[in-house]
Amino acid sequence: MSKPVLLNLTTAQLTDLLRQWGEPAYRARQVEEWLYRRYADTPSAMTSLPSALRRRLAEETIVSPLTPLVAQESSDGQTRKTLFALPDGRQIEAVLMRYQKRRTLCISTQAGCAMGCPFCATGQMGFMRNLTAGEITAQVLFYARHLAELGEAVTNIVFMGMGEPLANYAETWRAIRRLNDPAGFNLGARRMTLSTVGLVPAIRRMSREPEQVGLAVSLHAPTDDLRNTIVPLNRRYPLDMLMAAVREYIAATRRRVTFEYALMDHLNDHLAHADRLARLLDGLLCHVNLIPLNPTPGSPWSGSPDERVRAFQQRLLSAGIPTTVRLRRGVDIAAGCGQLHNAHQQAQTRG
Ligand code: SAH
Ligand code: SF4
Repeated sequence: MSKPVLLNLTTAQLTDLLRQWGEPAYRARQVEEWLYRRYADTPSAMTSLPSALRRRLAEETIVSPLTPLVAQESSDGQTRKTLFALPDGRQIEAVLMRYQKRRTLCISTQAGCAMGCPFCATGQMGFMRNLTAGEITAQVLFYARHLAELGEAVTNIVFMGMGEPLANYAETWRAIRRLNDPAGFNLGARRMTLSTVGLVPAIRRMSREPEQVGLAVSLHAPTDDLRNTIVPLNRRYPLDMLMAAVREYIAATRRRVTFEYALMDHLNDHLAHADRLARLLDGLLCHVNLIPLNPTPGSPWSGSPDERVRAFQQRLLSAGIPTTVRLRRGVDIAAGCGQLHNAHQQAQTRG
């Protein structure tokens, strides 16, 4: 039997395991404090535990399911990306972005993705499997430990790494609760944002959750015709259904929704598209985030040049839609999701 992974255990499961070992009931709380508040990555660091228990934990359990393989830092040192191996050999990546006082983590929820967006490096690799809540949480704790060594802390989490978080609803939400738990990692739900390609029933479900996690929707096009080519899932959940679900989320949470729009040269970046987009979003509590497409080797489209990005932004702003351009941060380390994974695979094949 494989060893239990501590970060995968619920409090009840951990309590059970320790009870079987003859430990008092408060031990589980102590171990969880080491895991989620002090980011211990080995039992030997858990110095308030009896040494016999530390030894037994080291022999019979695994703390984190992640093994860091490679890390890359952008030339300005503000973005750091790590590729991890999972216990079954699959690989995922997570990114730390420093921006002024913010320390934002971009976290993966699946190995690969089944949604097949042609411009996306993760979409191009296909779907391998869902991550467990422990594998999702472990990415956060890895960087929390890294930041703690520098006297810093995680301020925000975005579920925008590899995979579609709403296609792995249960485990993503288990991870969110763990990270939100005041007795555990204690990060406010309002500091977390989940990005979805538009799984309508799951957006509805999300708006009924007690934790008010932020919603970002990857729109990329203002009409069904165009969106069908860029985001295949649009055929199943077209724009009118998607926008109805977004309105429901806003009504339930009173939170501003972010629409992500990856600008692709001469595909979805004409001023007429900006006008259609402004009409689609008219009166909605929202914000548009424009991202010039990060080139990926398999993508049929390329990113819009700066002047087209600025013109698109101006057009939306003059229609009264709050619009920002996401800085091309970490482009030199291929910070787009799935890109480090692919580069590493190629290097392995070549080497
Ligand atoms: N599956 C979810 C979350 C992961 S992708 C989603 O699609 O929303 C996170 C964001 O990165 C999405 O907005 C996605 O469209 C965008 N993205 C993916 N590949 C990109 C690329 N090469 N350049 C720019 N943005 C990209
Ligand atoms: Fe999946 Fe999001 Fe990439 Fe589309 S953009 S393939 S939904 S990860």
